[in-house]
Amino acid sequence: MPTKLYATPPIPYVTEKPWTNWGGNQACTPAFTVRPKNEQEVLDVVRFAIREGLPVRAVGAGHSFTPIVQTGGVLIDTELLTGVTGTDTTKNRARVLGGTRISDMGAPLWDAGLSLSNQGDIDKQSISGAIATATHGSGINLGSFSSRLRWARIINGHGEVVEVDENDLNTLRAAQVAIGTLGIMTEVELEVSPRYHIKEEITFPTWDETKAGWDQNIADYRHYSFIWCQADDSAALYELPTPAGESMVNRTYTKKYVAANLDEAGEIVTTENRRADRAYKIYAGGYMIPFHELEYYVPAEKGLAAVEAVQNLLTTKHTAERYPIEVRWVQGDDAYLSPFYKRDTTVLSVSGAPGTDYWPYLRDLDALLEDFDARPHWGKIHFLTRDRIEKMYPEYDKFVAVRREFDPDGVFLNDNLRSLVG
Ligand SMILES: Cc1cc2nc3c(=O)[nH]c(=O)nc-3n(C[C@H](O)[C@H](O)[C@H](O)COP(=O)(O)OP(=O)(O)OC[C@H]3O[C@@H](n4cnc5c(N)ncnc54)[C@H](O)[C@@H]3O)c2cc1C
Repeated sequence: MPTKLYATPPIPYVTEKPWTNWGGNQACTPAFTVRPKNEQEVLDVVRFAIREGLPVRAVGAGHSFTPIVQTGGVLIDTELLTGVTGTDTTKNRARVLGGTRISDMGAPLWDAGLSLSNQGDIDKQSISGAIATATHGSGINLGSFSSRLRWARIINGHGEVVEVDENDLNTLRAAQVAIGTLGIMTEVELEVSPRYHIKEEITFPTWDETKAGWDQNIADYRHYSFIWCQADDSAALYELPTPAGESMVNRTYTKKYVAANLDEAGEIVTTENRRADRAYKIYAGGYMIPFHELEYYVPAEKGLAAVEAVQNLLTTKHTAERYPIEVRWVQGDDAYLSPFYKRDTTVLSVSGAPGTDYWPYLRDLDALLEDFDARPHWGKIHFLTRDRIEKMYPEYDKFVAVRREFDPDGVFLNDNLRSLVG
């Protein structure tokens, strides 16, 4: 029993409290779970763990589907490390504590004249969890959260607080996508945008119409994305409202955003398929029905062919799979382990139903998309091995060198991460 084997943590804790992720497909039982209220408490806990020889992992909202949170040691729940700590409208920068939920950033940034430059399908993640896995929204000219990281305070495996910034690009590019393996991020600075409104339009084009508008829509809209449905029950699995009485088979639920500066007294509107509001209110959302997701990224020029190959796999072989294909775009960046490293990207996301054997389908997808030079989302189901990662990421060695400098004894590794980036 951990309480007999180890000294007790320096802050309130619970022992052997089982943890599961949002999707219910990952679980662990940490020896100790703690919820530090400030950076000093995180530091005290990490030093305690190092003394006791216990591994440490952080957890944000637990929205990752991969085994990147699990630990039998100390789990640091970052929920209380929350709040905006500074804004700068001349440089378009915002600092927040490491556990701040994206949903808690919109209103205070707006009041300071700023907005996040982009957001994903939900805003429930913690900022450090989003950065750790290169979480993104859609927009060929908009990078992931990781690409916007400009500074961070990280508690490393030596039990020290380290500042990472643009003066040392080697370390920054490692920290931008590190899957929590450099240490605990207690505070981060992001490049953000002057505040903006969004006008959203939802349409339901056929697949032929979606194909015909491919290049134009990617170029014309700040955010362009669609969800292609193979069956009439597909849209409901992601809780998508669709036109009453019409079939969605081989059609897409399509979202288009343009940025605007609106007069809030006169121009804020909400109808069924058109909305206009502050950016953070349009992006905001969440999913209530759990699914188990795989998300692979292909070079943008291969996007259309890759989507059609996945459609073909679904309609000819895996016909029982009902979850639709979500398609988005992300701008290339420079982070060493970024799936968008040096390439503008088309994103393909699919899901399996919890409780079903979706593995043959997901394995076929992995094999299929390997031919399109795909790289997977770090937080969604994948089949990577160290060997494959080394081939995918030209700067892999540089990342591992920084990781070993920050954490030579592997305090922040678990079995999964040790096998991939240890
Ligand atoms: C419903 C749903 C919708 C999603 N939508 C999108 C989307 O639109 N776009 C997209 O790209 N992804 C999306 N994701 C994936 C999700 O954004 C990522 O998995 C993200 O990492 C989750 O953030 P989190 O706060 O839940 O992190 P967790 O899953 O809790 O942790 C992720 C990783 O970050 C590490 N970590 C957490 N906090 C810290 C810290 N303070 N310091 C160091 N490391 C830390 C953890 O140890 C872990 O390795 C979605 C997931 C779900 C379930």
